Amino acid sequence: MPGSLEEQTVYIFAPTGRDARLIVDTLSEADILAKTCSSRDELSRALQTGAAAAIISEEALSSQDVQELARHLESQPFWSDLPILLLTFAGRPTPQNISSGRAAEVLGNVTLLERPLRPMTLRAAVRSAIRARMRQYQLRRRQESLQHAISELEQFAYSASHDLREPLRNIAIFSELLEKEHLAALDKTGRQYCNFVRASAKRMETLIDDLLAYTRLNDDESHNEPTTADAAKCVEMALASLSTAITESGAEIEVGPLPVVSMRSTHLYQIFQNLLANAVKYRGEAPPRIRVSASREEGFGWRFAVKDNGIGISPEYQERIFGLFKRLHTNAKYSGSGIGLAICQRIVQRSGGKIWVESEPGRGSTFYFTVKHERLAPGGRG
Ligand code: ADP
Repeated sequence: MPGSLEEQTVYIFAPTGRDARLIVDTLSEADILAKTCSSRDELSRALQTGAAAAIISEEALSSQDVQELARHLESQPFWSDLPILLLTFAGRPTPQNISSGRAAEVLGNVTLLERPLRPMTLRAAVRSAIRARMRQYQLRRRQESLQHAISELEQFAYSASHDLREPLRNIAIFSELLEKEHLAALDKTGRQYCNFVRASAKRMETLIDDLLAYTRLNDDESHNEPTTADAAKCVEMALASLSTAITESGAEIEVGPLPVVSMRSTHLYQIFQNLLANAVKYRGEAPPRIRVSASREEGFGWRFAVKDNGIGISPEYQERIFGLFKRLHTNAKYSGSGIGLAICQRIVQRSGGKIWVESEPGRGSTFYFTVKHERLAPGGRG
């Protein structure tokens, strides 16, 4: 499917009218849409609305123009890599073509075309640039339609979970009323059935709440809130929310120095909340011993680790547990919805990191995840 006229247009920025006219004539003979720009500003504006390629002669660009254009090109979306054909002078280096060498480096997807230019060479280079650009636009359309399909699915999951709550609430209320007001009419088995109904409704409510939390992660991202989080504070908040379970289990938790990272603090809190809750929940015979730490990940940022001495996970399940609703135990043994790790994975992957576990059954687990860094927070706990 062809894109807009702008997306099929080649923009030309050449200072001498003769050069530009020659290029326009050569391209229009080949049925290629071409437009000339009289200034770099006009070129930048044109590129903003979409372009097939740009043809620029090196003497048209001052070094400031090169920097401005480079900045403009750097802000392109991920699918976009605008082809630029840079017309250079053949022969001895001059101040102009020295600057074109630098321009070629900073402008990215640049093809150098030496003058005098043969029309055939120009047409072949422009056609190849346009073909590459059309593939980029195709990629953008695919990505947009995929994103649309994902949003619709998420919207569906959200509405479905939301609509399920009301009948569920009724089940819980009426089973409670039945037990309360008709207790005498119920024998022991009847009362037991009522309890099962109530417990199942409660469990379904938890599942739906967790599913809603998972689908809401997308809404969170549209808010554009500050994206730095102090990991030490997030851990502290997570520990506070788990204080009852920590006290009951006799867990000892050690927290090393933690950095400030590029991530929303609600998200980092959610990760620690899930990992620490699991470290306490999936404990063995001994009271939980948990350690939270961070170390630098070369060329990326930080690698966090949450280490426990719990029941551990067999190697064959170590990837599967990050999937939605994937659990290794019955609800009677360990309660849960199988969504916590899926939420962690989604958050981490969206910020460009990864999450994984290293574990041996019976010998504890260490969950790792990576995050881009900001700066080291002073001190630490533990
Ligand atoms: P939930 O805890 O609600 O079941 P999660 O998505 O948090 O869901 O975890 C998925 C599964 O991974 C759990 O059911 C459990 O079997 C396993 N798991 C998670 N964390 C640990 C841990 N620290 N030690 C052992 N098993 C774990």
